[in-house]
Amino acid sequence: MALDGKIVITCACTGAETTVAQNPALPITPDQVAATAQECRAAGAAILHLHVRDDQGNATQSVARFKEAIDAIRRKTDIVIEITTGGAVGDTAEERLRPVKELEPEMASLDCGTVNFGDEYIVNTLPTMREFAAEFKRRGVRATLECFDLGHVYASHYLVKEGLIEAPFHYGFVLNVPGAVPYSVENLSAFIKAMPAGADYTVMGIGRSSLPAQYGAVANGGWIRVGFEDNVFFSKGVLAKSNAQLVERAARIAGEAGLSPASPDDVRKYLKLKG
Ligand code: ZN
Repeated sequence: MALDGKIVITCACTGAETTVAQNPALPITPDQVAATAQECRAAGAAILHLHVRDDQGNATQSVARFKEAIDAIRRKTDIVIEITTGGAVGDTAEERLRPVKELEPEMASLDCGTVNFGDEYIVNTLPTMREFAAEFKRRGVRATLECFDLGHVYASHYLVKEGLIEAPFHYGFVLNVPGAVPYSVENLSAFIKAMPAGADYTVMGIGRSSLPAQYGAVANGGWIRVGFEDNVFFSKGVLAKSNAQLVERAARIAGEAGLSPASPDDVRKYLKLKG
């Protein structure tokens, strides 16, 4: 099936690093995340990119906490859940991978390389990527191949050649992380050209590049991600009232280009998710 006339919108509602001090509407608890998922689904999101927090609001890769959040979301909405394996800065590979091993979600992110992350850094060696990809394959988890750098797109080709990931391929281009690649039309084009033929991609513009990146995605036939993980503002100096407000605008922008939001079931069919 094709996604003619439709665009996939992902909401990354919480992330690992965003704080309530940055935006008081940040969803933290499983119930808050579930309510957010329901609102974002109603506003046009088909995928929820999920990080979880502990009772103190700190990022955690606790399997129990992921399960609690997933169960709460499932009681409210059919949105596709993509869990993070990026985790938070400083998590070990084993910690990052554990929720995938134990919960076997429909989708999960798979970071494709090492990169600066502000003053910190994220480490993903090729052996780590192979280990993650093999685990995803074993458990039928569709990867979003997250690339923060052009070299990451090329690194992903090893996984393809070695048969560790199979089509349909879905990339996530994370642009404008401080210390990595800024968002620009030229940079986005270079990432797109480096993908295997026929792959789809979601564009994530961090901070002030969120809005330009949404237009870039629409103009190039890509998909959109918004949410407080990437950006807490609606416009310069004005905080977003909710994640759903950002999803609503993304759907409106796509609508002006003649695209309607894909449903979770459209995504399940198109990306051949196990459901
Ligand atoms: Zn994330």
